[in-house]
Amino acid sequence: MKQQRTYVLCCCILVLALLFLQPLSGTAQEVEDEREFDYIEGSKRGPAYWGDIKKEWADCKTGRLQSPIDMSDRRVKMVQKTENIKRNYRPFNATVKNRGHDIMVQWEGFDQVGSIQINGIRYFLQQCHWHSPSEHTINGRRYDMELHMVHTTPDQKIAVIGYLYKIGKPDPFLSKLLDDIMSMTDQKLERNLGIVDPREIKSGGKKYYRYMGSLTTPPCKQGVIWTINKKITPPPYLAEIKILRPDSDFRALREAVHDYAEKNARPLQPLNQREIHFHGQSPKDTFN
Ligand SMILES: [Zn+2]
Repeated sequence: MKQQRTYVLCCCILVLALLFLQPLSGTAQEVEDEREFDYIEGSKRGPAYWGDIKKEWADCKTGRLQSPIDMSDRRVKMVQKTENIKRNYRPFNATVKNRGHDIMVQWEGFDQVGSIQINGIRYFLQQCHWHSPSEHTINGRRYDMELHMVHTTPDQKIAVIGYLYKIGKPDPFLSKLLDDIMSMTDQKLERNLGIVDPREIKSGGKKYYRYMGSLTTPPCKQGVIWTINKKITPPPYLAEIKILRPDSDFRALREAVHDYAEKNARPLQPLNQREIHFHGQSPKDTFN
Protein backbone atom coordinates (compact mmCIF):
# COMPACT_ATOMS: atom_id res chain seq x y z
CA MET A 1 0.00 0.00 0.00
CA LYS A 2 2.75 2.36 1.02
CA GLN A 3 4.65 1.48 -2.14
CA GLN A 4 1.57 2.23 -4.24
CA ARG A 5 1.15 5.63 -2.60
CA THR A 6 4.77 6.48 -3.28
CA TYR A 7 4.27 5.42 -6.90
CA VAL A 8 1.17 7.64 -7.27
CA LEU A 9 3.01 10.52 -5.61
CA CYS A 10 5.95 10.12 -7.98
CA CYS A 11 3.58 10.10 -10.96
CA CYS A 12 1.90 13.28 -9.71
CA ILE A 13 5.25 15.02 -9.31
CA LEU A 14 6.27 13.90 -12.78
CA VAL A 15 3.03 15.19 -14.32
CA LEU A 16 3.37 18.48 -12.48
CA ALA A 17 6.99 18.78 -13.56
CA LEU A 18 6.00 18.19 -17.17
CA LEU A 19 3.21 20.73 -16.90
CA PHE A 20 5.61 23.34 -15.61
CA LEU A 21 8.35 22.51 -18.06
CA GLN A 22 6.08 22.65 -21.08
CA PRO A 23 5.32 26.37 -20.99
CA LEU A 24 8.94 27.15 -20.21
CA SER A 25 10.33 25.46 -23.29
CA GLY A 26 7.42 26.93 -25.28
CA THR A 27 8.37 30.41 -24.15
CA ALA A 28 12.02 29.91 -25.07
CA GLN A 29 10.91 28.87 -28.54
CA GLU A 30 8.70 31.92 -28.92
CA VAL A 31 11.46 34.29 -27.89
CA GLU A 32 13.71 32.84 -30.55
CA ASP A 33 10.98 33.04 -33.18
CA GLU A 34 9.65 36.44 -32.30
CA ARG A 35 12.76 38.19 -33.59
CA GLU A 36 11.77 40.84 -36.06
CA PHE A 37 15.17 41.37 -37.62
CA ASP A 38 18.63 39.92 -37.44
CA TYR A 39 22.22 40.57 -38.50
CA ILE A 40 22.84 37.39 -40.47
CA GLU A 41 24.14 37.89 -43.99
CA GLY A 42 21.78 36.35 -46.52
CA SER A 43 18.97 35.98 -43.96
CA LYS A 44 15.47 37.14 -44.97
CA ARG A 45 15.50 39.27 -41.82
CA GLY A 46 19.05 40.47 -42.37
CA PRO A 47 20.16 44.11 -42.86
CA ALA A 48 19.59 44.03 -46.64
CA TYR A 49 15.87 43.33 -46.08
CA TRP A 50 15.07 45.42 -43.01
CA GLY A 51 13.30 48.00 -45.17
CA ASP A 52 10.98 45.33 -46.63
CA ILE A 53 9.92 43.70 -43.37
CA LYS A 54 7.54 46.47 -42.27
CA LYS A 55 6.10 49.55 -43.95
CA GLU A 56 7.30 51.68 -41.03
CA TRP A 57 10.85 50.45 -41.63
CA ALA A 58 11.06 51.74 -45.21
CA ASP A 59 13.79 54.25 -44.29
CA CYS A 60 16.16 51.30 -43.76
CA LYS A 61 15.96 50.76 -47.54
CA THR A 62 15.14 54.11 -49.16
CA GLY A 63 16.46 56.63 -46.63
CA ARG A 64 19.39 58.75 -47.84
CA LEU A 65 20.70 59.71 -44.41
CA GLN A 66 21.41 56.26 -43.02
CA SER A 67 23.94 55.15 -40.41
CA PRO A 68 26.56 53.87 -39.80
CA ILE A 69 29.12 55.36 -42.20
CA ASP A 70 32.86 55.35 -42.67
CA MET A 71 34.56 58.53 -41.51
CA SER A 72 37.42 58.89 -43.91
CA ASP A 73 39.89 61.77 -43.71
CA ARG A 74 39.18 62.53 -47.37
CA ARG A 75 35.54 63.27 -46.68
CA VAL A 76 35.86 65.10 -43.39
CA LYS A 77 35.49 68.89 -43.12
CA MET A 78 37.40 70.59 -40.35
CA VAL A 79 35.45 72.85 -38.04
CA GLN A 80 37.62 75.70 -36.82
CA LYS A 81 35.40 76.78 -33.96
CA THR A 82 35.25 73.75 -31.73
CA GLU A 83 32.56 73.20 -29.19
CA ASN A 84 33.02 70.65 -26.43
CA ILE A 85 30.19 68.24 -25.88
CA LYS A 86 28.43 69.62 -22.84
CA ARG A 87 27.57 66.59 -20.75
CA ASN A 88 25.50 67.21 -17.68
CA TYR A 89 24.73 63.80 -16.19
CA ARG A 90 23.96 62.56 -12.69
CA PRO A 91 23.45 59.09 -11.19
CA PHE A 92 19.96 57.61 -11.31
CA ASN A 93 18.05 54.31 -11.22
CA ALA A 94 18.65 52.07 -14.20
CA THR A 95 17.81 48.64 -15.58
CA VAL A 96 19.92 46.40 -17.79
CA LYS A 97 17.97 44.62 -20.53
CA ASN A 98 18.77 41.84 -22.96
CA ARG A 99 16.78 42.95 -26.03
CA GLY A 100 17.84 39.90 -28.00
CA HIS A 101 19.67 42.01 -30.58
CA ASP A 102 21.72 43.93 -28.00
CA ILE A 103 22.31 44.66 -24.31
CA MET A 104 20.92 47.99 -23.11
CA VAL A 105 21.13 50.01 -19.90
CA GLN A 106 18.03 52.18 -19.56
CA TRP A 107 17.60 54.94 -17.00
CA GLU A 108 14.23 55.65 -15.39
CA GLY A 109 12.31 58.85 -16.05
CA PHE A 110 12.61 60.98 -19.15
CA ASP A 111 14.88 63.73 -17.81
CA GLN A 112 16.20 62.34 -14.53
CA VAL A 113 19.73 61.35 -15.47
CA GLY A 114 20.69 64.55 -17.27
CA SER A 115 21.39 65.78 -20.74
CA ILE A 116 23.83 66.97 -23.37
CA GLN A 117 23.56 70.23 -25.24
CA ILE A 118 24.06 70.55 -28.99
CA ASN A 119 23.53 73.89 -30.75
CA GLY A 120 21.62 75.17 -27.74
CA ILE A 121 19.18 72.24 -27.64
CA ARG A 122 19.05 69.89 -24.66
CA TYR A 123 18.87 66.16 -25.37
CA PHE A 124 18.10 63.95 -22.37
CA LEU A 125 19.94 60.67 -21.86
CA GLN A 126 17.60 57.66 -22.13
CA GLN A 127 19.74 54.58 -22.57
CA CYS A 128 23.03 53.18 -23.76
CA HIS A 129 23.76 49.90 -25.57
CA TRP A 130 26.65 48.07 -27.20
CA HIS A 131 27.48 46.86 -30.69
CA SER A 132 30.30 44.49 -31.44
CA PRO A 133 32.21 44.90 -33.65
CA SER A 134 31.88 48.69 -34.07
CA GLU A 135 29.33 50.02 -36.55
CA HIS A 136 31.13 53.22 -37.55
CA THR A 137 34.59 52.92 -39.05
CA ILE A 138 37.43 55.44 -39.24
CA ASN A 139 39.37 55.37 -42.51
CA GLY A 140 37.90 51.94 -43.15
CA ARG A 141 39.06 50.55 -39.84
CA ARG A 142 36.48 48.73 -37.75
CA TYR A 143 37.01 48.58 -34.00
CA ASP A 144 36.10 45.85 -31.50
CA MET A 145 33.11 47.53 -29.93
CA GLU A 146 30.93 50.64 -30.05
CA LEU A 147 28.84 52.11 -27.24
CA HIS A 148 25.83 54.28 -28.15
CA MET A 149 24.40 56.79 -25.69
CA VAL A 150 20.93 57.70 -26.92
CA HIS A 151 19.47 61.11 -26.03
CA THR A 152 16.10 62.61 -26.97
CA THR A 153 14.19 65.87 -26.66
CA PRO A 154 10.57 66.00 -25.45
CA ASP A 155 9.53 66.23 -29.13
CA GLN A 156 11.51 63.11 -30.06
CA LYS A 157 14.58 64.63 -31.68
CA ILE A 158 17.47 62.20 -31.25
CA ALA A 159 21.19 62.71 -30.62
CA VAL A 160 23.51 59.72 -30.18
CA ILE A 161 27.07 59.81 -28.90
CA GLY A 162 29.22 56.90 -30.02
CA TYR A 163 32.38 55.65 -28.35
CA LEU A 164 34.72 53.24 -30.11
CA TYR A 165 36.67 50.59 -28.20
CA LYS A 166 39.47 48.20 -28.90
CA ILE A 167 40.68 45.38 -26.72
CA GLY A 168 42.92 46.71 -23.95
CA LYS A 169 42.62 47.51 -20.27
CA PRO A 170 39.43 47.20 -18.19
CA ASP A 171 36.50 49.56 -18.50
CA PRO A 172 34.92 50.11 -15.07
CA PHE A 173 31.43 50.78 -16.42
CA LEU A 174 31.07 47.53 -18.35
CA SER A 175 32.96 45.46 -15.76
CA LYS A 176 30.34 46.31 -13.14
CA LEU A 177 27.56 45.00 -15.36
CA LEU A 178 29.16 41.78 -16.51
CA ASP A 179 27.60 39.47 -13.90
CA ASP A 180 24.13 40.75 -14.74
CA ILE A 181 24.79 40.51 -18.47
CA MET A 182 26.05 36.95 -18.20
CA SER A 183 23.05 35.93 -16.08
CA MET A 184 20.76 36.85 -19.00
CA THR A 185 22.52 34.82 -21.68
CA ASP A 186 20.14 33.96 -24.53
CA GLN A 187 17.13 35.21 -22.61
CA LYS A 188 15.12 38.37 -23.04
CA LEU A 189 15.32 39.46 -19.43
CA GLU A 190 15.98 42.58 -17.43
CA ARG A 191 17.60 43.29 -14.09
CA ASN A 192 17.28 46.31 -11.89
CA LEU A 193 20.72 47.81 -11.31
CA GLY A 194 19.86 50.44 -8.71
CA ILE A 195 21.75 53.70 -9.12
CA VAL A 196 23.97 53.89 -12.21
CA ASP A 197 26.23 56.88 -12.89
CA PRO A 198 26.59 57.60 -16.62
CA ARG A 199 29.62 59.76 -15.82
CA GLU A 200 31.54 56.51 -15.37
CA ILE A 201 31.43 56.16 -19.12
CA LYS A 202 34.54 57.88 -20.41
CA SER A 203 33.94 61.32 -21.84
CA GLY A 204 36.09 60.60 -24.87
CA GLY A 205 38.06 63.83 -25.23
CA LYS A 206 37.53 66.92 -27.32
CA LYS A 207 37.88 65.48 -30.81
CA TYR A 208 34.85 64.10 -32.50
CA TYR A 209 33.07 63.61 -35.78
CA ARG A 210 29.57 64.95 -36.31
CA TYR A 211 27.09 64.18 -39.06
CA MET A 212 23.38 63.74 -39.68
CA GLY A 213 22.27 60.11 -39.85
CA SER A 214 19.77 57.58 -38.59
CA LEU A 215 19.17 54.93 -35.98
CA THR A 216 21.21 51.86 -36.94
CA THR A 217 18.39 49.42 -36.11
CA PRO A 218 14.84 49.36 -37.51
CA PRO A 219 12.91 51.60 -38.01
CA CYS A 220 16.18 53.36 -39.06
CA LYS A 221 14.59 56.72 -38.23
CA GLN A 222 16.48 59.63 -39.82
CA GLY A 223 17.42 63.06 -38.51
CA VAL A 224 19.65 61.66 -35.77
CA ILE A 225 22.58 63.90 -34.82
CA TRP A 226 25.62 61.64 -34.52
CA THR A 227 28.71 62.46 -32.50
CA ILE A 228 31.48 59.87 -32.77
CA ASN A 229 34.42 60.34 -30.48
CA LYS A 230 37.80 60.26 -32.11
CA LYS A 231 39.49 58.83 -29.07
CA ILE A 232 39.53 55.06 -29.12
CA THR A 233 38.97 53.71 -25.64
CA PRO A 234 41.03 50.78 -24.52
CA PRO A 235 38.21 48.52 -23.53
CA PRO A 236 36.67 46.53 -20.97
CA TYR A 237 37.04 43.08 -19.67
CA LEU A 238 36.28 41.39 -16.43
CA ALA A 239 39.15 42.25 -14.12
CA GLU A 240 39.36 38.94 -12.24
CA ILE A 241 39.82 36.81 -15.32
CA LYS A 242 41.79 39.25 -17.43
CA ILE A 243 44.87 37.08 -17.50
CA LEU A 244 42.98 34.13 -18.89
CA ARG A 245 40.54 35.82 -21.20
CA PRO A 246 41.39 39.43 -21.98
CA ASP A 247 38.43 39.70 -24.34
CA SER A 248 35.86 38.21 -21.97
CA ASP A 249 33.71 41.34 -21.93
CA PHE A 250 33.09 41.03 -25.64
CA ARG A 251 32.37 37.38 -25.25
CA ALA A 252 29.86 38.16 -22.49
CA LEU A 253 28.08 40.75 -24.65
CA ARG A 254 28.07 38.49 -27.69
CA GLU A 255 27.01 35.37 -25.85
CA ALA A 256 24.27 37.14 -23.92
CA VAL A 257 22.42 38.37 -27.01
CA HIS A 258 20.68 35.90 -29.27
CA ASP A 259 22.73 34.01 -31.83
CA TYR A 260 21.29 36.02 -34.72
CA ALA A 261 22.85 39.17 -33.25
CA GLU A 262 26.17 37.84 -32.06
CA LYS A 263 27.83 40.36 -34.34
CA ASN A 264 25.32 43.17 -34.13
CA ALA A 265 26.85 45.78 -36.40
CA ARG A 266 24.82 47.08 -39.34
CA PRO A 267 26.86 47.28 -42.58
CA LEU A 268 28.16 50.70 -43.69
CA GLN A 269 25.65 52.94 -45.50
CA PRO A 270 26.27 55.33 -48.43
CA LEU A 271 27.26 58.88 -47.48
CA ASN A 272 25.12 60.49 -50.26
CA GLN A 273 26.71 63.96 -50.31
CA ARG A 274 26.41 64.38 -46.58
CA GLU A 275 29.04 66.39 -44.76
CA ILE A 276 31.04 64.94 -41.90
CA HIS A 277 32.47 67.60 -39.61
CA PHE A 278 35.51 67.05 -37.49
CA HIS A 279 35.67 69.06 -34.28
CA GLY A 280 39.16 69.44 -32.84
CA GLN A 281 42.56 69.46 -34.45
CA SER A 282 43.46 67.51 -37.54
CA PRO A 283 41.92 64.04 -37.47
CA LYS A 284 45.28 62.70 -38.65
CA ASP A 285 47.29 63.59 -35.59
CA THR A 286 45.73 61.46 -32.92
CA PHE A 287 45.38 57.87 -33.89
CA ASN A 288 45.05 56.35 -30.45
ZN1 LIG B 1 23.21 51.47 -31.46
